[in-house]
Amino acid sequence: MRLSQYFIPTLKEIPAEAVIPSHQLMLRSGMIRGLSSGIYSLLPLGYRVWKKVQQIIREEMDGIGGMELHLPALNPKEIWEETNRVEAFGDTMFHIKNRDLVLAPTHEEIITHIAQAFVHSYRDMPQIWYQIQTKFRNEPRPKSGVIRSRQFLMKDAYSLDNSWEGLDENYQKHYDAYCRIYDRCGLDYFVVGASSGAMGGTGSQEFMVESDAGEDLCAFNMESGYAANIEVASSQIPAVARLDENPDAEKFDTPNAKAIDDLVEQFGIPEERCAKALVYFADDVPWLIFMSGNDQLNEAKLQTALKANLIRPAQDEELLALTGANAGSIGPINLKTKLPQLADRRLEHANGMVSGANVNGFHFKNIDLDRDADIKEYVDLRTVLEGEPDPIKGLPLKVKKAIEVGHIFKLGTKYSEALKANFLDDKGEEHPIIMGSYGIGVERIVACHIEQRHDKDGICWHPSIAPFQIQITGIKVEGDNVREHAEKIFADLEGEGYEVLYDDRTGVSPGFKFKDADLLGMPINVIVGEKNLKDGNVEVKIRKSGDRKIVPVADVVATCRDLLDELMAS
Ligand code: ATP
Ligand code: MG
Repeated sequence: MRLSQYFIPTLKEIPAEAVIPSHQLMLRSGMIRGLSSGIYSLLPLGYRVWKKVQQIIREEMDGIGGMELHLPALNPKEIWEETNRVEAFGDTMFHIKNRDLVLAPTHEEIITHIAQAFVHSYRDMPQIWYQIQTKFRNEPRPKSGVIRSRQFLMKDAYSLDNSWEGLDENYQKHYDAYCRIYDRCGLDYFVVGASSGAMGGTGSQEFMVESDAGEDLCAFNMESGYAANIEVASSQIPAVARLDENPDAEKFDTPNAKAIDDLVEQFGIPEERCAKALVYFADDVPWLIFMSGNDQLNEAKLQTALKANLIRPAQDEELLALTGANAGSIGPINLKTKLPQLADRRLEHANGMVSGANVNGFHFKNIDLDRDADIKEYVDLRTVLEGEPDPIKGLPLKVKKAIEVGHIFKLGTKYSEALKANFLDDKGEEHPIIMGSYGIGVERIVACHIEQRHDKDGICWHPSIAPFQIQITGIKVEGDNVREHAEKIFADLEGEGYEVLYDDRTGVSPGFKFKDADLLGMPINVIVGEKNLKDGNVEVKIRKSGDRKIVPVADVVATCRDLLDELMAS
């Protein structure tokens, strides 16, 4: 491809809207162009990369027996109502005005609809169906360029099985295929245990790339081999000990204590002896939740524990109406309304606790949660903190930010039950199909690749997904000698099957061409100029390391072949 004829609208300045390197570099190198918040056009250079990532995904999905199909983005709302996911997705789902249609944010429902119609016998399974298709999500905060956009490409795959063992096998196949996909795309990634969220299901893992631009937090200890999304991460933090003395609860005056720290400072109460009470709605049912001290309630854990589609904290007026007090004075005793109660497992059988009196400005002390509260269950509801002992070996947890590039779920029978997708087993008995769902964000792979492979001058592509493997920079191609040699090298390299971007622009200074080559970041740059040609040579530069070699013109193809083999394996 000749650069003089190729549409690459590079930018000299960093666009103001772009904060993270991948977004800045995609815009500057002319790969993408923003249209509106969270909506991007893929320009020719960018689209080449997208297609390569898709090709790698296709090969690996085909390799595990996946069958590619293509589902409609426009869906009747009705089918999403049958699984309660219009409510679960809430404002994130795009609705078509005046029609009962939505734009699909994922495709479990439509896959199950097909399975319901055609998969009826245990003999029809296993199946793996996948697509690489546009998804629509009205993200409340589109940011970081294509990493969180409102229209994006997802590879979504679904497995259908007639046994739980079959699901385990298909899940493992996807796990292995995902590792190969990210390896082949040159990504440094790690895998964490994850929450199943609105998708439902019996287990899931996420593929993560460490990055300051990440919106997920992961807790891990490499030595223990523990890694989990903060949404499910747990630690061996000790429970609040039960005291021998257990006097009756006693109300006391706390006019200036609104927060846990106020109780600690003003009354010398140990932080963990404060039972902080919160009210959350889970699908319209209000719950009273207890946490120890300043432990942070983890909403993802709460949602899972309550098996709710949607949870939200109660508003001020709701708190007052339900408990009789405002936030900061709520507790288990003398509640205005009877509320179902749940507590963090650190508080199991705890006594000698301080909590609000459901009257503003008052608390109770000596509360025994077994005696004075009506707690239905103690479950892990807290967000772990860096340094706490990990659940495997008790070694200190580290917490880091990461970007989710893929997610694999054991869905189980949530969707097949809702949409009545059943099969008959070998005894003629009917069961719901056992499903898995497996997603990869195509744009996130590209963006994370750039986050991990760039320097101050531009992108440093891995040859596996580089838009072109080789760039040729012709220095002063106005001269016959340079042009003839550059043209010949271009023809030879293309003849060998390489993808080559030939900077054949006239009237462009060498400095300008070098800057562009660094910005665009092809793995190898062959620089053809009069200076080296005098001795029958050209210069070959490796973008990532900056290493340069002078090689005879006759050896260019062989040199590029060897270098690309090496870079491919790195
Ligand atoms: P997140 O938690 O980041 O919003 P998610 O858990 O909702 O993502 P999934 O439903 O698991 O995403 O979708 C599968 C994959 O699709 C994700 O692992 C991610 O790579 C990609 N993806 C999800 N949302 C977006 C988005 N708004 N823009 C680009 N890619 C996305
Ligand atoms: Mg996810």
